[in-house]
Formats: sequence, structure tokens, C-alpha cells
Amino acid sequence: MLKFYGKGVYGAYAIGRASVFRRSTAMVYRTRITDTEAEIRRLELAKSRAIRELDAIYEKAKSEIGDANAQIFEIHKMMIEDDDYNESILNIIKTQSVNAEFAVASTGENFSRLFAAMDDSYMQARAADVKDISNRIVSCFVEGTVHNNTDDTQIILCADDLAPSETVSIDKSRVVAFVTEQGSQNSHTAILARNMNIPAVIGIGAGFLAQIKDGDLLTVDGYSGEIVVDPDDETLRAVQSRLLSDRHKKALLQKLKGKDNVTLDGTHVNVFANIGSVEHLGAALVSDAGGIGLFRSEFLYLEKSDFPTEDEQFYVYKKILESMGGKKVIIRTLDIGADKQVDYFHMEKEENPALGLRAVRIYLTRPDIFKTQMRALYRASVYGNLGIMFPMITGVRELESVLALCKEARNELKMSGISYSNQIELGIMIETPAAAIISDLLAPMVDFFSIGTNDLTQYTLACDRQNPRVDRFCDTHHDAILRLIEFTAQSAHRHGAWVGICGELASDVSLTKAFLKMGIDELSVSPSQVLKIRDVVRNIDLRE
Ligand code: PEP
Ligand code: MG
Repeated sequence: MLKFYGKGVYGAYAIGRASVFRRSTAMVYRTRITDTEAEIRRLELAKSRAIRELDAIYEKAKSEIGDANAQIFEIHKMMIEDDDYNESILNIIKTQSVNAEFAVASTGENFSRLFAAMDDSYMQARAADVKDISNRIVSCFVEGTVHNNTDDTQIILCADDLAPSETVSIDKSRVVAFVTEQGSQNSHTAILARNMNIPAVIGIGAGFLAQIKDGDLLTVDGYSGEIVVDPDDETLRAVQSRLLSDRHKKALLQKLKGKDNVTLDGTHVNVFANIGSVEHLGAALVSDAGGIGLFRSEFLYLEKSDFPTEDEQFYVYKKILESMGGKKVIIRTLDIGADKQVDYFHMEKEENPALGLRAVRIYLTRPDIFKTQMRALYRASVYGNLGIMFPMITGVRELESVLALCKEARNELKMSGISYSNQIELGIMIETPAAAIISDLLAPMVDFFSIGTNDLTQYTLACDRQNPRVDRFCDTHHDAILRLIEFTAQSAHRHGAWVGICGELASDVSLTKAFLKMGIDELSVSPSQVLKIRDVVRNIDLRE
């Protein structure tokens, strides 16, 4: 029995036989040629074959994992037509008088190395894509295929890495898990695995494949990332029992996928997901969330050792919007301060940071930080259905100033000729008692409210949410909180705005009916709670 550990990117268990993934890419030999024009014609032929293959893969992927996720193959097509990429191939053919497949393979290697060395994790993940398209073009000269080779019904596909097109192309009817030596959380393969509900463990490290062979029995724990090769009886029984109870729990709720969040009397409510990073997108999609109700953008800053650039942010927001394929995505602007401190902001130490320079107060004292984020958001807005909300608002003047900064950011983009959507909804979090009490004044200024019950509770009840000693004084069902929520909902509706709850109270099912009676339009909860809430909503009768 051997154990290996990697990073689980989709939580589930699997038991099956190893199938070591082998590529049929033929060796690419460097051959000297004399007729460069003929070589370029061969290249064009191979490229058009590759594009036809990608069209077919795109159609297959679209039916399996949805249009938004299948978009990567449209991007691959665009990459094949990329000017720099093609210039490099032609240059190698012409200047070195070599065969086209060699020029494609070297360009793939060079570009992939270039991407892998970049600081930006999004660009790093593109290294696999450029290799993938180059291998595809090369295989179109030699007609290579992707295959796996075991007759066992339950396959655990083990690979050094899996390119997105390989993940989609393989016959997954027998694949119960993916295990890869390399791979990053951000790679499309990880996202695709999550969206296909296939447990996947990545990043086990080099040497894993050398220690397994086709047909070895494996157990995969997609939660902890543990892989056991040749498990003993006790391990096998333990994984088997965890697998069954996990499936049972999920199966009960899976039946609700695709169903509406509608009460017995016909009232609809949006059930959205809260996420903190791109890595959680898969979970949100798998949970069948109607949208993203809260993306805590400050995690982008918390993960870094310096300010994320406008471009870095743009790529993240764009990715979220594209992955959600037209569903609403509400990105909350930076909520730094209080418990979320970032060294490179060099904030002075405060006696009561939760009452100190936090969120919107930082925007107004350091507007450049906020405007960088707003420009990135506006730029990304053309890629989906974006809503932006501002945290920690306490007053009308403050909101006016924030909106003025937004206008400045838009003007800066206009001056540079950069387009943005004019359909973006702007909203605010209602998470201070002040904001709730003047919600009737704030509502005409925005498209929506999202109630942050975590902070609303701490500030209303004067209970530090970080202090476990005041936990027992922190009654989340306190009438003061419920009244503030109800008044906020009334204010929103009176002025044509919609209102949601994105704090933890949104998943407190003992309050779901009360919230719906108050007229709450959206509940945004962690992805794992989406179907649970749907289940509860569908059993509520507001006439009772
Ligand atoms: C809230 O305060 O309820 C909220 C959703 O924001 P956070 O928990 O990130 O402060
Ligand atoms: Mg909050």
C-alpha cells in the first residue's frame, strides 16, 4: 500500500483502476526543407484541421458542461489564429528552413515557457493551453489521437497533466476520478473536473506516475487529496463507506437541480452563491446557483504581497463573468480593514479596527486603489452580467463620493477608448445600522441592496464578531436585526430596487419564511447550501 497527497479540486471519493494516460503525439523530427511555400501550405492545412477538431470538441463540451465552460475551446481557436504565435511559426520555417511541425512544436514550447514564467497566475495557467493547441496542430500533420487503455469499468485517469481538450475528449463514461502530477487550481482542467462532478486531485508531484501501472487499484479522496495505491482491506472499506454516505447526501439534493426556487404559493426567490475566489466558481456552478451574490474581492488582495494590478484584477473578474455565462455576478469592491489586514496597505494600527478605516473609508482616503479596481471591473463588464456593490456604507454623502469616483474611473476608460457595459447594476451592502435606518434615502441612488447580516449584527448589537467571549450575547435573531432587515426591504421596494441577503443569516433556514414574507428577493449563501435553501423554499407556503 502506497499513499500520495495532492490538492483536491472537487470533493468526492472514488475507487477504481489506474489508467495511465498516454498521448499519441508522434516524435517531432527536425527536417530541412527547400520549399518553404509548400511547408506553409501544409501548416495551413493542419491548422484548419485543428480548428475543425476544436469545433467538434466545443459542441461536445457545450452539451456536457455548458456553453460558458466550453468557451475555452473557442479561445483555443483564437489562439491558433494569434498573430504573434503564427509569426513565430512562419519565422522558424523561413529562417531555419525547417518542417512546419517542428516550427509549431518549438513555438509551442517557447510560448509555454514564456507564460509559465509570468507572475500572473492566470497567464501561467495559459502555458498548458498554448502547449495543447500546438500538440493539436502537430497531431493534425500526423493524425494523432487521445486514448486510454484499460478494460476495467471504473477508471482513475492518471496523467502528468491534462490539457482542457484532453479532459473533454476522453470517454468519461468510465472515468471516476482524475489524478495528475501537475496542474493548478486555476487551470481550466481543474475547473472542468469540478463542473463535471468528477473527483480530481492535482499537483501530486513528479514521480507518482513512475510508481503506478495500468490496472493498479486506487482510492481517491477529493476532499483531503489523498491517493492510496493498492489499499489494504481496512482502507478500502473505510473509503467505500465514506463514498456511499457522501453520495447519499448529495443525491438527496441533486434532484432539485434545474428546478425553480419557488414557494408553494408561487413566490420566486433568487438563490445565489457567495464565493471568495475563482477556485470556488466550480462549486457555485455545480450547486446550480442562479448567480454569484457576493464575490469577496478583497481575497484577491489578501493572497498577494503587493497591490494586484488593474490587469490582474481584470482577468479574474472576466474569468468569473465568463464562467457564469450570463448569470448575474455581484462583485463586492475591496473590503479591507477590521479583521482583513494587508501588510502592503501599511495601515496604522487602530484601537478598534472594526470601527476604523475600513472598506469605503479607504476608498475615500486612498481613491487610486479604488479607482484601479473600478477600472478593472468596468473593463470586465462586457464579458457577462455584472453587478458591483460597495461595502460598509453609512451615509448619503459617502455614497455620492463613491459614485463620483466610479464616474471618474469610467471617464478614464472613455478617454482611453476602452468600452464597458452600460447594463451594470450598482448596489450597496446594508451592513451598518446607519445604512439600514436611512435605507429609504439610499435606495433611490442604487439598483439593489445586499444585506450583510454578519456586520449588521456586530454593529447593531455591539458584539465584536471576532470575540468568542461575546458570542452568547450575539443573538442573530434579535428583533432589532429583523426590523432593520424588514425596513431595508420595504425601502428598496418603495424605490424600485431589489434586495438580497448575503450574510450568513441567509442560510439560516429557520428564517427563510420570515425573509420571504419581508419581500427579500435574493438569498446568497455558500455553494454547498444552495440546494438546501431551494429545498426549504419549495416547501414554504406564504399564505400560511
Ligand atoms: C456581512 O458582513 O454580512 C458580509 C457578507 O460581509 P463580510 O462577512 O465579508 O464582512
Ligand atoms: Mg461585512
